[in-house]
Amino acid sequence: MSMLVKLGKKGKKIVKKFITPAEKHHLSYTRRIERIKTDKRICAMTFDDGPMDMPAAPDQFGGRSLTDVILDVMAEFGAKGSFDVVGDTSENYPDKAGKVGSAAWGGTKFDHYPDLGHDDKGGAVHNDRLIRRMLDEGHQITNHSYRHIIFGKKPFVYGAREYLGSVDKAVDDQLRLDRLMEETYGCKLTLGRPPHYVDKIQDGFTSYDVYDKVGYQYMAASYDGAGWLPSTLSDPDAALEAEVNAMVEPMKKALEKDPDFFRGQIIFQKDGYNMAKRTPVAFGLRKQLELLKEYGYQVVTVGQLMEESPFADLGRDDPLFDKLCRLQKDRAVAYSDNRVRLEDPMSWGELAMLLCPKEEAMARRWAKIRRSGKHEDAYCGALEWCVEQGLLPKGTKSDGPVTALPGGLFGPAEGFTRRQVYAAYLE
Ligand SMILES: [Zn+2]
Repeated sequence: MSMLVKLGKKGKKIVKKFITPAEKHHLSYTRRIERIKTDKRICAMTFDDGPMDMPAAPDQFGGRSLTDVILDVMAEFGAKGSFDVVGDTSENYPDKAGKVGSAAWGGTKFDHYPDLGHDDKGGAVHNDRLIRRMLDEGHQITNHSYRHIIFGKKPFVYGAREYLGSVDKAVDDQLRLDRLMEETYGCKLTLGRPPHYVDKIQDGFTSYDVYDKVGYQYMAASYDGAGWLPSTLSDPDAALEAEVNAMVEPMKKALEKDPDFFRGQIIFQKDGYNMAKRTPVAFGLRKQLELLKEYGYQVVTVGQLMEESPFADLGRDDPLFDKLCRLQKDRAVAYSDNRVRLEDPMSWGELAMLLCPKEEAMARRWAKIRRSGKHEDAYCGALEWCVEQGLLPKGTKSDGPVTALPGGLFGPAEGFTRRQVYAAYLE
């Protein structure tokens, strides 16, 4: 605790900054990685729902599988992708096809990749060759769940969908793919993205809890590479052209307006049919990569992006960067939106998260949610532990700025900033 005691002696003036308010977010072991802070022209591309061992549609690539086409184009540009693969959707029966062009195109109760009735052409389980090719060529594989079943009930759009409904089932599904990748390929996964980005689970937990348990970060994206949303044009050729344009034109405009626009961004793409069973990505990816190359961008994996900085608002130039990078491995130092917000006041709940070991904070909060069956304050487990250890007084509420530190020292009335507390803690 001595480093915290020193903090009081510094008496630094509080820097007040009005940045994005932090109320909506909370410190979280699992953070939603949408983009990272960097001054280099590097960005990442993620490809969901593959691998896919069926030809692009329409097939103008000599019958090569869509995944091979994507890998060929990436290789040509020296680009490294993050393939957000599924395990196997063939267990998702009985089911029937939904309307093409709607969200249920690949099944009304479940998703089927690459297509209903062709589950054996998709997923890591059926595509040893494609998985090996991805790994051999330096791409990253991430966990898009084994069966691509949504974690929780989602009344709108997916009202008729089957869902997992409990944190334990979601964790099991993640681990099934995780073990397959580790046991067959010696590949340790570190990132996951929930099917259809559904986060809320009916038992009081969320996808963030799932990834806390599995030890992943939540791989999101900051830019929609498009193509997945079908064009409404009835002529198939014109529709495909419109879908390819939707992938290329906005990117071109964004780069013309600001050549640095894509620095640190994660671009969302699909390794599969779009909702109209076309594959604009097979045609548009090359054009996107040409544009990015023209502006001097290097396309790297999300893992490589996170080596540059794991945070959205803190880069290598910050004096606390290296220390916070190390600390984030066993403490929640960033918010669920991957921002560190160092100039904001530190709250009591956040201080508790800094002092309490991760396993204690998680175990206590999980037990509380299992008892109540509803969502509980993100800091409740850490606070309980800190009170038990005598580090914080009984009845400490998680909000409100930290004005006194364990050891009896009082800070300025406005409280300590997060930067001040971390700087002292990490000294
Ligand atoms: Zn998906």
